[in-house]
Amino acid sequence: AKRDGGGVARRFDPVLFAKAEQRRLAEQDLMRGLEAGEFEVHYQPIVDLDNGGITVGVEALVRWRHPEKGLVPPALFLDLAEQLGQVPRLGGWVLEEACRQALAWQDRHPGFEMNVNLSASQLTNPKLIDEVREVLERTGLPPQDLVLELTESVALTDLVESARVLSQLKELGVRIALDDFGTGFSSLSHLSTLPVDVVKIDRSFVQAMPETGGASVAEAVLHIARTFNLSPVAEGVEDAGQAERLKDLGAGRAQGYHFARPMPAIGVTELLDKQSAE
Ligand code: C2E
Ligand code: CA
Ligand code: CA
Ligand code: CA
Repeated sequence: AKRDGGGVARRFDPVLFAKAEQRRLAEQDLMRGLEAGEFEVHYQPIVDLDNGGITVGVEALVRWRHPEKGLVPPALFLDLAEQLGQVPRLGGWVLEEACRQALAWQDRHPGFEMNVNLSASQLTNPKLIDEVREVLERTGLPPQDLVLELTESVALTDLVESARVLSQLKELGVRIALDDFGTGFSSLSHLSTLPVDVVKIDRSFVQAMPETGGASVAEAVLHIARTFNLSPVAEGVEDAGQAERLKDLGAGRAQGYHFARPMPAIGVTELLDKQSAE
């Protein structure tokens, strides 16, 4: 190994080099994809358990249509996009695309709801409020039909600041959902501080529900939701048994592979057509 002036041993590490090179290529590829507009919004139906499971809205979920890798899920690019400071831009595009699409569906389904995820960097972006206002104006979507989802961990990073931004968003008339609810800490005390309307019960609690009888965390979380006058949405419902139990527990709304997977807009259009023909 060579020694530099400071006396620190330095040698070429092929593993570190390969990692850095891989990272550089991943960054380049992502920036290229963003520039080329390779991103798509898919939509997962949210159903009303009390009303025969009809679709009352969707959650917008971003995907990357990669020229070689095919459809890439957000888990594989959102962190990198965040590190590159690209999430506010990508998220802004998702928001506008989703609101436009929601308005198209509202043509035949008034009140159809659109849920859009917000990341930490979007919440702390001082331009967020203006951006949401402008998207609502440009698209004409009624504000009450837009639900902005943020995770507990994002909302609780800076509680005072979150409360301020969320109040400003609420003044625009949009609704706020706490995502992955129950997975964070001290959720209870914070629920009363934040102007939240909806809680999305994390799929880990839905999947941990006992097959028959017995108390469950899902039940406890639903109780908390009722106590704070929040509308619950159960996430990650994968089978009929879970759907039935959640309905009995008064979950109201649900989302999951049992009902429908995330799909391109055309899929939702077809589903809504079928639904209104029934
Ligand atoms: P999330 O907001 O909790 O979204 C729900 C995730 O669960 C989605 O994964 C969805 O495909 C998946 N899912 C739905 N039903 C089921 C089920 O029955 N079983 C299981 N195992 N999974 C189910 P997806 O689309 O891969 O998104 C992952 C995460 O990426 C999202 O979690 C969200 O945090 C983030 N994300 C997605 N799109 C956006 C976006 O446009 N902006 C931001 N900031 N984050 C996004
Ligand atoms: Ca979400
Ligand atoms: Ca979630
Ligand atoms: Ca999640």
